[in-house]
Formats: sequence, structure tokens, C-alpha cells
Amino acid sequence: MRIGIIGTGYVGLPTGVGLAELGNDVICIDREPKKIEALQAGKITLYEDGLEELFHKNVKAGRIHFTTSMKEGIEGAELVIIAVGTPPHPVTKEADMKYIHAAATELAEYLTGYTLIATKSTVPVGTGDDIEALISKKNPFADFDVISLPEFLREGFAVYDFFHPDRIIVGANTQKARDVIKELYKPFEGKTRMLFVKRRSSETIKYASNAFLAMKIHYINEMANFCEKTGADINEVAKGIGLDNRIGARFLNPGPGFGGSCFPKDTMAMAYMARQNDVEMTLIKATVDGNIKRKQEMAERIMEAVKGIENPKIAVLGLAFKDGTDDCRESPAIEIISHLLEMNAHITAYDPKAMGTACYLLGDKITYADSMYACLKEADVVAILTEWQEFKELNLAKAGQLMRHKVIVDCRNLINSVEAKNNGFKYRGIGVPSIG
Ligand code: NAD
Repeated sequence: MRIGIIGTGYVGLPTGVGLAELGNDVICIDREPKKIEALQAGKITLYEDGLEELFHKNVKAGRIHFTTSMKEGIEGAELVIIAVGTPPHPVTKEADMKYIHAAATELAEYLTGYTLIATKSTVPVGTGDDIEALISKKNPFADFDVISLPEFLREGFAVYDFFHPDRIIVGANTQKARDVIKELYKPFEGKTRMLFVKRRSSETIKYASNAFLAMKIHYINEMANFCEKTGADINEVAKGIGLDNRIGARFLNPGPGFGGSCFPKDTMAMAYMARQNDVEMTLIKATVDGNIKRKQEMAERIMEAVKGIENPKIAVLGLAFKDGTDDCRESPAIEIISHLLEMNAHITAYDPKAMGTACYLLGDKITYADSMYACLKEADVVAILTEWQEFKELNLAKAGQLMRHKVIVDCRNLINSVEAKNNGFKYRGIGVPSIG
């Protein structure tokens, strides 16, 4: 199938590469010339496990191309996928639709023959109708359908998730549109669940899923606070409740709050849509507010650990919003660092993959270390903010020799507290008894 993908970011690029690998003829379009020039020159523009290899393979096979030209990307396409950003509006926090509206308007004049337009971006309910209206206005003779095809990939696992989708949700109001999608996903037939629903239901499913998962994280974080007061251990509690298969074990890891490009913005957008429709959604509101507060609390916790030390030096391990990605958008680590900087802290940080993206956000406000151990030199406390495997394997004896004070604030519960104690560390985890 000839496919045009608008937006070559964390969703558009893995999707484009995956669809090319399935044998389709893909053109990825992006308005950022630098991104396209890099991709045309064979340089991958973001980190995702396994993506680079697959990218080179498909470029070599001539199945994927990159362009800044909407005309080149859309003309002749049977399927157009919209994967542009829908960031939070700076004031209202609703999903900002300017990129979606621009993409819909720009693509309209280049449609040739029947074209299916699939929105992979996370968009408010009713956006499909808006896209349809924008295209018809610009090109009254265009023959097309607009569907909602929400993306459920997990950053860090984008390639795996593309080839092993849990489920495929399709919001399509016509049979013709459903047939194109069935053809596209034929390679996954019998291997995944495919659910066809109304377009508005599909748009809602994406927000409802993300809000639910965010709520689950917020719930376990509140439960961790409870455990800290009562002497229970959140790791044991989470394991125990996760054994109930009505609840499930996933998304029950306590931590510094949720982040990334999706959960914070999608919960805020959902809360906005609820207000607009005059529907009370107290759980989502509590989740949004609680998650903002959580980052401030984590920063205070880190400062508390160096109380009484003059000009304390804080070593931060982890900048990405989670392991397996270089994405720092809405990363709890970045927000916690910003709070720490407001409290005049001196910070040295290290992340195995996200130094570049973090530097873009934090500039020279902090010092960047070349390695995990370099980061710990002369530190008065180490704060672990991202759950990288490398940090789990921290050699505590070596760490203790490098640091000025042996203190760990483990916001991801990666370190074994008994081992920390045996190596002379003061240890504070999340929802577990503190040591020292
Ligand atoms: P991103 O910011 O990484 O990429 C978006 C790209 O679109 C950018 O490269 C930008 O230059 C390009 N773009 C914007 N307007 C354009 C236009 N008119 N023409 C051509 N290119 C244009 O965003 P992302 O993380 O890939 O997210 C895209 C959408 O998918 C969002 O709605 C997001 O909520 C949703 N989503 C993201 C994830 C994720 O894990 N990142 C998961 C599921 C859904």
C-alpha cells in the first residue's frame, strides 16, 4: 500500500519504519527540514530500541522515503496517517489542535482518488468531524474518509509494540474505510484483537485508557505515602494487590509521578473536555493535581536528605521520563530538578540516553557527567529518578568511596535497602521503611 505519514516524531517514525518493514511503500513528511535532511542522510533522529537497524534496512530496500513536501508525500497515497503533535495549550491545557488543523488543510489539495485519512495523534472527541470539514472546504471534490486510529505504543518499546500490538482500535464510520484498515493489518490477523467502533468512541478510548493508567500510578503513589506513615512496604502491597487479576500487576510501581509526552497532557485534556461538557470527573482532576504536587514533594525529600550540609552537591541519576527512551518531555526528573534549582541546589546529572534532550531543556543550569560514577564524585546525596537497568546495578561500595556523604534518595525503588545499609548508606525509598 502507498502510505503518506505526516509527522516524523516518536509515533510517526517507528510507524513509518514498521509499515515499510511490512512491505508498504512509505513516505514520511515533516515540516522540520533539519529532521528530514538527517533522515535522508541515513541518520536516525530519535532513540528507540531496535529502530535504527530496521530504519537502515528499509531505507536500503527503498521502501521508505522522507520529504518536507506535502505534495510529494500525499499525491498517490491510498492511506494518509496524521501523527503530528497535540501538545497542551499553554493556558487552557486543552489539546492544542493547531498542528492537526494545519496538516488537514495542507494535505487536502494533494489527495488523488479515494484516500483514507487516519488520525494517529491523540485528539479530542469530534476532531474527525473537524478534519473532514477542513478537507472538504479546501477540496470539495476530494474522495476520502477520515478515521480515528489511536496509537498505543509505549516509548522505549515502540518497535516491539508495532509488531506485537495488544489491540488495534479503529474508529471508522464507513465500510470502505474499515476494509482499507483490514487490508493494512492483514499481517497481524489472528495475532491481535481488532475492535471497530464509531469514530467518536475511538477518540474517547485513547483518552480514557491514558487517564485510567495515570490514575493507577497516582493511586499507588498515594498508597506509598500511606505505607511510609504506617510501616507497611509498598513493594509488598503492590505485589499483593496485583495478584488480583481484576486489578492486574502493571502500573503499580510507585515513583516520582508520571511524565512523558502523553499522560500529563492527556489527563489535562480529558479534564478540560469534561469541564467543557459539564461532566464532573473528580478522579481525573485529583490525578492531575496530585501528580503536579508529587514532583514538588520529591524535590523537598531530596533537599531534606542534605539538610544541614553547606552548599550540598546533588547527584541525579536519570533524566528521561522513563527507561528505554531519550524523551524528556514532562519528565518527572526535569521537573524535580527545576524545583531543586529554585531551592538553589547544585546538581550534576547523568542519563545513559537522554543527555542531549535534557541539555536542550536545562541548558547550563546543571552540570552533566559522562558516566554514572563520574556523577557521584563528591556528591552529598544521590537521587535516582529514572528506572534504568544500569542504575539497578550500581556498585554501592564504589559509590560510597566516591561520595562525600553516603545518602540515597531512591525515587524508583531500584536499590536493595539492606545492601545500602550494609555499605553504610542512609537510604530513603518510596513507600518503604527508611534506613539511617
Ligand atoms: P512529536 O512531537 O515527536 O512529533 C510530531 C512531529 O510532527 C514533529 O516532528 C513535527 O515537526 C511534525 N509536524 C507538526 N506539524 C506538521 C505538519 N503540518 N506537517 C508536517 N509535519 C508536522 O510527537 P509524538 O510524540 O510523535 O506524538 C504525536 C501524536 O501521537 C500526539 O498526539 C501524541 O499525543 C500521540 N501519541 C504519542 C505517543 C508517544 O509515546 N510519543 C504514544 C501514543 C500517542
